[in-house]
Amino acid sequence: MLFGRRKKNPIKLPDKGVVEWRYTTCGYCSTGCSIEVGLNREGKAVAARGVGNADVNRGKLCIKGILEYELFETPGRGRVPLMRERITEPFREASWDEALDRTAAEIQRIQDAYGRDAFAIVSTGQIMTEEFYTLGKLARGVIGTNNYDGNTTLCMSSAVSGYKRSFGSDGPPGCYEDFEHTHCLLAFGSNLPEQHPVIYWRMREARERRKFPLIVVDPRVTMLAQNADMHLPINPGTDVVLLNSLAHVILKEGLHDPDYIAAHTTGFEEFKALVEQYDPRTASKICGIDEDTIRNVARVFGKAPAAMTIWTMGINQSTHGSDGVVAINNLHLITGNIGKPGAAPMSITGQSNAMGTREWSSCSGLPGYRYLENPEHRREIAEFWGIDEEFLPKKRGMFMTDILPAIETGQIKGMWLIATNPMTSMANTARIRRTLERLEFLVVQDAYADVETNEYSHVYLPAALWAEKQGCFTNTERRVNLVRNVMPPHGDSKPDFWIFNEMAKRIQREKKPHFPETTEQVFEEMKQLSKGEGRILDISGMSYEKIEKARGLQWPCREGQEKGDQRLYTDGVFQHPDGKAKLIPLPFEDNNERPDEEYPLWLNSGRVVEHFHTRTRTGKIGNQNKFSPTPYMEINPDTAAELGIRHGEYARVVSRRGDAIVMAQCTQRVPRNMIFIPFHYHECVNRVSLGLLDPHSRQPAYKQCAVRVEKIEDQAAAAKLNLAARAY
Ligand code: SF4
Repeated sequence: MLFGRRKKNPIKLPDKGVVEWRYTTCGYCSTGCSIEVGLNREGKAVAARGVGNADVNRGKLCIKGILEYELFETPGRGRVPLMRERITEPFREASWDEALDRTAAEIQRIQDAYGRDAFAIVSTGQIMTEEFYTLGKLARGVIGTNNYDGNTTLCMSSAVSGYKRSFGSDGPPGCYEDFEHTHCLLAFGSNLPEQHPVIYWRMREARERRKFPLIVVDPRVTMLAQNADMHLPINPGTDVVLLNSLAHVILKEGLHDPDYIAAHTTGFEEFKALVEQYDPRTASKICGIDEDTIRNVARVFGKAPAAMTIWTMGINQSTHGSDGVVAINNLHLITGNIGKPGAAPMSITGQSNAMGTREWSSCSGLPGYRYLENPEHRREIAEFWGIDEEFLPKKRGMFMTDILPAIETGQIKGMWLIATNPMTSMANTARIRRTLERLEFLVVQDAYADVETNEYSHVYLPAALWAEKQGCFTNTERRVNLVRNVMPPHGDSKPDFWIFNEMAKRIQREKKPHFPETTEQVFEEMKQLSKGEGRILDISGMSYEKIEKARGLQWPCREGQEKGDQRLYTDGVFQHPDGKAKLIPLPFEDNNERPDEEYPLWLNSGRVVEHFHTRTRTGKIGNQNKFSPTPYMEINPDTAAELGIRHGEYARVVSRRGDAIVMAQCTQRVPRNMIFIPFHYHECVNRVSLGLLDPHSRQPAYKQCAVRVEKIEDQAAAAKLNLAARAY
């Protein structure tokens, strides 16, 4: 009998007739993989492959990147602008001039009638950095609204806020190569294999070569937790307590670095007095991790020659999100684990260019990590743009999560949404629907006309997608990479950059900044603004050509530098005026909704590997969507049995806000007092979520609220409702 490979056909890759490969950067997550899209003889995108000599991904791509080339021809794309007088009427097709003129006129009408800030702009983390900079110039320097933000408030603003509070500036201090040097990796609320598969692969490869302990803190047994040396199933929303307790043990057992603390930090005595209260016994009663484990983890971290922490939404999406980030920074500062190989508090960003908006969009301040609150920064930018300094506000306006409630109270009358979909992404869907209906004018700018939020718009502007245009993305390790345009824009859609420039021409102001005609010219302008003594966000040593040749360059990359710096704060000098980092005491206040008799289960939410955000793109790609086409919940088999719910049946999830129909997936990945629902589906998890806001970052606590689960007798009717949430 013959066994094995001799009888099998060799693996044969289908010949897709690629005649040309074009370089670009993946447009989904913040890993920043370099990708080549293959075009056939007819100029159609038919394949994609990872770029072998790109340091980030070294030839690898995840399922999203591999199938990304299919996006160019997905259904639902916008071809032409659409307009209507009232949202109850059907859209009619319009010319670009008509749509842009009407939008500009509505912006000015609303501002004249109610004040400049009555018109809000909310953008995204997914357009090019040059587009962000141009939009910032338009929003701050021409339209002049202070209610301008990005949807990054939903995912990364806690990280931004935490970095600023500790170090005086945003900017993840480490890099992927740190996995190759670290002696301890602590991962908080970060399911790397599903969220950032290629970063996971980099970490796993480093760990296979040089075994180092991986400690995962997550209420759920995620894929990363399954691969960890230790898994700490923490009570939701109590990370600050655990982190304070780890610091307590480190200080008690003399595992801290007194020289680093003395030379590079302030606030040590106040910090020490606070963490004194968080002994492991007291902390264990709140965070649910036993005291021996707390001591053990503190010792592993404290004794490591270099220790690293990564985190994602598990920390950020909490009422203590910003404090959680500061608590991680505290731990790194007291042990001197920053600015050296293998030692970094490293937030893993979500969207492909969430970093680009943090750096250059002027959402939270002014370009290049400048602050509206700093008169010198206002003067510098006003001079550079050629506008009156007084035109710029003296402090930042509302966050996205405050803009929507301000529509309810009548402060905001009009809004421009750019590549963001609050009807699916914001907590409490019913409330968001009522909110959007109140607007006098809503313009939606998106690559997809069928994005759920567009049901509430008066004007729809079809935007070009990802590699239908050109510009830069910055990834999680501060690496700027180039998105080359692979295809022309779909139909009569236009690059966001073109739309912003056209809008700038139509808004009447006495003094206006200059708007360059190409993204490369914009990049050169940003380089000028990035130069300066002590500025960490310096890109003056970069050019499009250099970036593409290097397959991405990290900042700071100063004039004359061949490559950028891999790490920040290597000299121990931080961005606070005294050059020191702050150790900040963090008392814990339990202020979230908690399970009770009526709603006895925690609801946790997160991602699956096949989908990206609100599925506007990935839901349209058949080979991707087929893996998770259905809104579902993970439920512990014991809990399901108690409720009489069987694996694969539909069930109703109910909270104080509303209800959702999901399919039950029985699994031990969640404890008995918790369910987990992926957040990608429309009319699903956010029908029930609460989303209380963090006081510093205004980021919603999507991951913690109380629900109950009910059995549904009429499964056929439930299937129909569940189908409605699949949308595509
Ligand atoms: Fe794209 Fe992120 Fe996947 Fe890389 S890991 S291919 S950047 S989605």
